[in-house]
Order: sequence, then structure tokens, then C-alpha cells
Amino acid sequence: MLDLSAAPPGRDSNMLAAIRRTWGYDGLRPMQAEAIQAGIDRRDSLVVLPTGGGKSLCYQVPPLVAERTDVVVSPLISLMKDQVDGLRECGYPAVTMHSGQTPGEQRAAEEMIASGKCRLVLVSPERVLTARFIRLMQMARVSTFAIDEAHCISHWGHDFRPEYRRLGGLKDRFADVSVHAYTATATERVREDIKRQLGLRDPLVLVGCFDRPNLTYRIVPREKLRDQVLSVLRRHRREAAIIYCVSRRETEALAAHLRSEGIRAAYYHAGMDPEPRRLTQDQFSNEKLDVVVATVAFGMGIDRSDVRCVIHAAMPKSVEHYQQETGRAGRDGLPAECVLFHSGADSLKWRMLLDRSRDETLEGMTDNGDGSYAVARETLEAAHAAQCELIEHMRRLCLTNACRHRLLSAYFGQTLAGENCGACDVCLGEVERHQEATVLAQKILSCVARVEERFGAGHVADVLLGSTAEAVLRCGHDKLSTYGLLGDLPKRAISHQIDQLLAQELLERRSNDRGLPILKLNAASWEVLRGKRSVFLPRPSSRIETATPGRDSVEFDRELFEELRQLRRKIAEERGLAPFLIFNDRTLRDIATKRPRTRSAMRTIHGVGDRKLEDLGDAFSRCVDDFLRARETPR
Ligand code: ADP
Ligand code: ZN
Repeated sequence: MLDLSAAPPGRDSNMLAAIRRTWGYDGLRPMQAEAIQAGIDRRDSLVVLPTGGGKSLCYQVPPLVAERTDVVVSPLISLMKDQVDGLRECGYPAVTMHSGQTPGEQRAAEEMIASGKCRLVLVSPERVLTARFIRLMQMARVSTFAIDEAHCISHWGHDFRPEYRRLGGLKDRFADVSVHAYTATATERVREDIKRQLGLRDPLVLVGCFDRPNLTYRIVPREKLRDQVLSVLRRHRREAAIIYCVSRRETEALAAHLRSEGIRAAYYHAGMDPEPRRLTQDQFSNEKLDVVVATVAFGMGIDRSDVRCVIHAAMPKSVEHYQQETGRAGRDGLPAECVLFHSGADSLKWRMLLDRSRDETLEGMTDNGDGSYAVARETLEAAHAAQCELIEHMRRLCLTNACRHRLLSAYFGQTLAGENCGACDVCLGEVERHQEATVLAQKILSCVARVEERFGAGHVADVLLGSTAEAVLRCGHDKLSTYGLLGDLPKRAISHQIDQLLAQELLERRSNDRGLPILKLNAASWEVLRGKRSVFLPRPSSRIETATPGRDSVEFDRELFEELRQLRRKIAEERGLAPFLIFNDRTLRDIATKRPRTRSAMRTIHGVGDRKLEDLGDAFSRCVDDFLRARETPR
């Protein structure tokens, strides 16, 4: 943290004073000062900061300090709307321009822009290069563009959006604009691509620290998913949580199950009608829902900073996705937990989905003979190959039994200092190395050999279990030496270990002549069987129930905090805004810790700028005062 009191005079203090006045922040996060300065100086920049790293502030401050109008290109309308609402609560003039507005709203926004009083215009990528918008920008003398989620421009990335490609035209259309790219997730290749596609000139490249020390990561084999999810959620009663599933159907089923367990949960996916979808999103923002079970479609538009838990019901399709989705936890900087439940089958499923979507796109493309087909096809194939690679990285991350914080940092090219992070299942000692993993693998593989590589995983598991299933008896497999060899394990655990062997390519799945999947040994299997290769299989941890919620637990007055939350909810309702736009949890906790009883005492609270002090200072300090009085009065 850059300390405000220690700031040198001049531009810096100017910047910091503006931040203090408008947002009530006491300092800047790593890289923010440099990124803001590049914005003020209008030097092209590429800023890579993790989710929650505070990218928005970096493009919000420059136009305020330089007293000009800047444009921000952003991919999601709901995200823009929240940001503009939040800025207005701080007394910061901002508008948004997108296709979802009524003509009246659009006209109001245009007038505001043309007046030159607007500091920030948030616009969708489709809009930005339309003749109408260009005219407006000329009127407001816009010369600085920020591109949010800039990785969307690269087909090497995990979220390629063709409409972002037209942003490459900014530098061509306007001679003297500066362009500032922002993203949370970019590997070296994606970074280079962003620079090239946007035509950045000698950009200042800033890469922040990717580690999120307030997040505790757990990566656990999937067994009984529902029970596993419930046991995690039990640690976060009445707190905000997001659960990511792969399919829409799964989100609906899991949400229903959680509701039947008394949890305020709902599902969310891209196949829903806009109306119920908005409702779910609003209810989550307004704290009327605790848990949302979603496909990846959810979350981009969510700015609730007090999400205490993110659960993945299956492996996400890239480390970037994992980082981005888990990044939605603990954006207020307070401890939060991320649990990923995976199985060896997850990566196969992603591959299948990827192949299908590529094939469908190919089918939908027509070759009109001008060469564009070949180019489009090549881009598609390259994007497909890149995504397969991303899946593979994620798969390896799941199977590697090392500090999660360290592995994640390493993926983004950074090294983490220190031995034990104290905030992942490995460092917390929850994952035990499976000492007999190799022996266990040998038992499974030799059973595959004994059934002559002619049976599927279910049958092999039955034999190892010592099951009296009809098929086992009919084949005489109850006479095999491997029959009942793993009778002390539940069948799910055996199946899971088979999945693990498949995922690690120590075993293969093929189709027999009737098209049924059967297990086959490969060269690696024989190395294991001959004792030439040792195996690691993660052991399902049962100790997770008693796990600690994370480090840095903050002491504050919980009763008062609840009181403040109620006040916040009431004000938010009156104004038709999401509660976090009034104050976020970090601010409420700061109040519940420092307990300011007067408006002036509210000055020292995190997140209280000039406008909010005037607007909300009395209400909240009075709330504290009333609460303390009631407590001090003997009953
Ligand atoms: P990103 O876009 O990088 O994911 P945001 O810009 O949404 O992150 O910022 C995440 C949170 O951190 C927001 O609640 C924001 O208000 C807060 N924040 C940003 N910069 C600072 C700062 N310098 N001091 C305190 N809080 C900050
Ligand atoms: Zn660790």
C-alpha cells in the first residue's frame, strides 16, 4: 500500500487527494499509481492485474484528474450499469452507452457526453466505432480509450470475442488516441497478441502480483458431490457463495437440492429467459439470495465484493477460468474459500464440448471463394488447439500435489516467496500423500489384466470390490486373484482412482467391437505393474470438515455489523440500488471495528469519500451511536 501521508507533493498527491475525496481510499494498491499515471500522461499501456486487483480505479482516476472525458470499452452491460451506478453514488459523472437503452436514456447520455462534463463513458464494443458514437466522441474531444477485459481480443485466450477485433481500428481511425488495455488473465502469448491487435505503441506494461493471499484454495477429488458441497457451505452459513457447474441441467438440480436443505439458493445459466435471469442476479446483489449455482455465464456481471466462497462442481476449462472464477471470492480483501471438486472425466468432457462447438461452427461457415473462409478456418483451428492446451494445463494443476498458491502464481509466470502459504489444502496438511498409491494402482491395473482387458471401469471396480453382481459371477470373475482386493473401499472411491489413472494416462479407455468402452493397458501401465514407475493418486480427504476458514480472520463487532447491514439494505432499497454500491462489506467491517459515533469520525473509515460522508455519514454514525447506547444501558 502506498501511504497517503507519505506521498510527495505534486501530481502524485493530486492523484491521491482525488482518490481520497471521491472514493475514500487511503492508498493505492500495487501498480495502480503507475497505471493511473500512464492514463494521465496518455501513454499506451497494458495492465495485467488479477481480479479484484483494482483495475477500474486505474481508468476512472485519469479523466478526473486531467478533467477530460475518457471512453471505456467493456463487454457486459450489467457490469457497466453497476459501475456507473457506483460512480454516481460517489459523485463521479459517468454514463453508459449500449444497445439495451431506451431512446430516452440514450438521448440523456448523449447530451451528457456532448456537454463535456462527463468523465467516463462506458460503451460496448459494438457501439464504439459507429458513426454516431464517433461524432459524439469528437464533440467531447475524447482522446483516451481504456479496453476492459482486453484478452477478449485474442484467440489465444480463453474468452475470444470476435467483436473485440474491431477495436484494432481505434489507432487507425484516430491519429492521436492513447489506448490502455486491462485484463486479469493473460499469459505471455496473449499479452503479445493484445499489444499487436490493438496496435499499442511502446506501451508501458504493468503486471501485478497474481497471488490472492486472502483466498484459501482446496482441490479435492469429487465423490459425493452434493454432500461435499453441503459440507463446504456449512462453513459459510448466510454468506454469499457461487457454485460453478458445467451444464445447465446440473445447476438446476443442485440448486433445487440446496433449497431442499434450507439454503437460499437459485440457479443461473445462459439458457434462461432474461427476466428470471435478471431477477436472480438482482436478488443475489441485494442479498436476498446466498448461493447461486451457475454455469460460467454467471459472475461477469456480479460485483458483490463479499462473496465468501466459490465452489467448482467440476474442473473449469482453463487455469484462466479458474483464476477468474475463484477471483470473484473475497474481492473485499477479507478471507474467502475456493473449493474445486474434480474427476478425471472432466477434461474429457471439456474436450468433447470443444470439438462439438468447433464442428458446429465449421458447418455454419460458407466458402465464398474469396479466401476469407480459409483464414477464418485457420483462426478457428488455432483457437481450438489453444483451448485444448489450456484444458491440459488445468488438468495437470488438479493432479499436482503442491501448494496451490504457488502453482497458480507459476502459471502466470510469477514466483511466490516463502515455504508454506498457509492457505491451501496442501500447505494446511489436509491432503495426505497416498503412500500406497503405487500399490493401489498396481492392484487396479492387474485386475484390468486379469479380466483380459475386455471390460469397462464399472465391472473392474465390481471385481476389485468383491461384488456379487450377476456379470461378475457369470464371467467367473469371483475366482480371480484380484477379486475383492479393494473390498475395504467404497465403489465410488475405486471408480475415482480408475479415473485418476485414466487422466494420468496410466490406463486407457477404448471401444470394443460392440462400441462399449473398455479399459486397456498401455506401456505406462506395464511400467507401473513392473514396479518401474511410481504413481501419485490424491487421497480423498475426510478432514476437510474441520478445516479452518482461512487466515487473517478479522475481529469486529458482529452484532453491530448485522445492524449496519440492515441499515445498508434499507437505504439500498429506497434508492433501488444494490447494497454494495452504498458501502461494501469492508467499509461496514471498518465501521464495526472503529465504531464512529459522529459524522466527523466517519471520515477515517475505508471507502468514505466526501460525497458519501455527506450523504451517509450521519445515518451510519447514528446507527453506531444508537447501537452502543442500547448496549450500554442496563436492561
Ligand atoms: P478488478 O476490476 O481489477 O477485478 P475492481 O476494480 O472491481 O477490481 O476493484 C475491486 C475492489 O477493490 C472494488 O471493491 C474497489 O472498490 C476496491 N479497490 C480498488 N482500488 C482500491 C484501493 N486503492 N483501496 C481500496 N480499495 C480499492
Ligand atoms: Zn499452499
